[in-house]
Amino acid sequence: MNSEITHTRTADLYDAHVVQNYGRAPLTLARGVGSRVWDDEGRAYLDFTSGIAVSALGHCHPHWVKAIRKQAGELIHTSNLFRNPNQGELARRLVQQAGPGRVYFCNSGAEANETLLKLARLHGIRKSGEEGNCYKVICAENAFHGRTFGGMSATRQEKIQKGFRPLVPGFAFAKLNDLESFEDLIDEQTAAIFIETIQGEGGVNPATPEFLRGLRALCSKHNLLLMLDEVQCGIGRTGAFFAFQHAAVRPDAIGMAKGLGGGFPIGAVWISAPFADLFQPGSHGTTFGGTPLACAAALAVMDVLEKEDLLGNVTRLSVSWHEALRALIREFPQHMVGLRGQGFIIGLQMNGDVLVWCAALRAAGMLVPIAGGNVVRLLPPLNATADELAESVTILRRVLAAA
Ligand code: PLP
Repeated sequence: MNSEITHTRTADLYDAHVVQNYGRAPLTLARGVGSRVWDDEGRAYLDFTSGIAVSALGHCHPHWVKAIRKQAGELIHTSNLFRNPNQGELARRLVQQAGPGRVYFCNSGAEANETLLKLARLHGIRKSGEEGNCYKVICAENAFHGRTFGGMSATRQEKIQKGFRPLVPGFAFAKLNDLESFEDLIDEQTAAIFIETIQGEGGVNPATPEFLRGLRALCSKHNLLLMLDEVQCGIGRTGAFFAFQHAAVRPDAIGMAKGLGGGFPIGAVWISAPFADLFQPGSHGTTFGGTPLACAAALAVMDVLEKEDLLGNVTRLSVSWHEALRALIREFPQHMVGLRGQGFIIGLQMNGDVLVWCAALRAAGMLVPIAGGNVVRLLPPLNATADELAESVTILRRVLAAA
């Protein structure tokens, strides 16, 4: 079968048989190495989508591939009716990063966030003494927490909620980085505050360190859980293991997924020690959570983060990369008007249709996702090199100059 036939056949199969819930790029990806992917016609792209902040080590990192292969030949799945050594070790390493507490494993970001929302309900019962008295969660406008009913209910965006109402009750919305707007919403029925440390899908909007510290104080004062969604911005993406660590605060619970498995599906929730016993046997669970294979992939990610000093890589290289991107704003102010984010999660605010920018960048050899607020996102793997970051700037300049 030649590549032309394969390409056409894949497109036809999608057209005929795959649910049409995505505006997919007209591109079939066939293989990847590091920051590079190739389509099924042999064309190479600089991949700064990283599977939407998932491929933390780039594609097919040898240590990660070896770990998955080895584990696949030993034991893949056991269920949570039994222990497996990888889950215990991964929990230990995550606790080492997050602080005293415990970890629950699941399969995705949305599922991690559902766990946080259920935790808030249990905390409300402990706080008020009765089910149904204290269950409200205050979230940020413009957030994105996933596509389950809980996640959608915590995501006040018309494009996410439309068609699926009625949603779960008990969510209120305040303005990111406006502490007073959160404080105003707190009442007897409030159980938790839940935000992304950096809003990803909403347009790469970071919570400021002062705001995070203010939320911490509010939550402590009113006995609310401070729950942070680090699904997109966590696991090294900002140059710290968790993005909130830059603000020197400690939340009560953290949702993780995406980069944790480096491309193998896994989600996790860390719960700080005083609240970790809210879940009791039978109160929550999932068949596939924390399988030996998923945890082997995540342990390999943790190994490489440490051995290759990827937090250091992100911190060191992002300085000159951000500067070069800012220079593009000065060079092309009619097209590019702002830069937000930290480390390797960057949002470029554009004039004009971001889908058109995204397509032009793809044609020029770079894959990037878009985000709300007319933003083109740049999400390099955490081991991207200085040359690859410079290449992203060259491609952007070429596309901006040709516009
Ligand atoms: N939370 C955040 C901050 C996200 O960015 C996402 C996905 O983009 C999710 C939750 C949902 O994660 P998943 O798609 O793995 O369910």
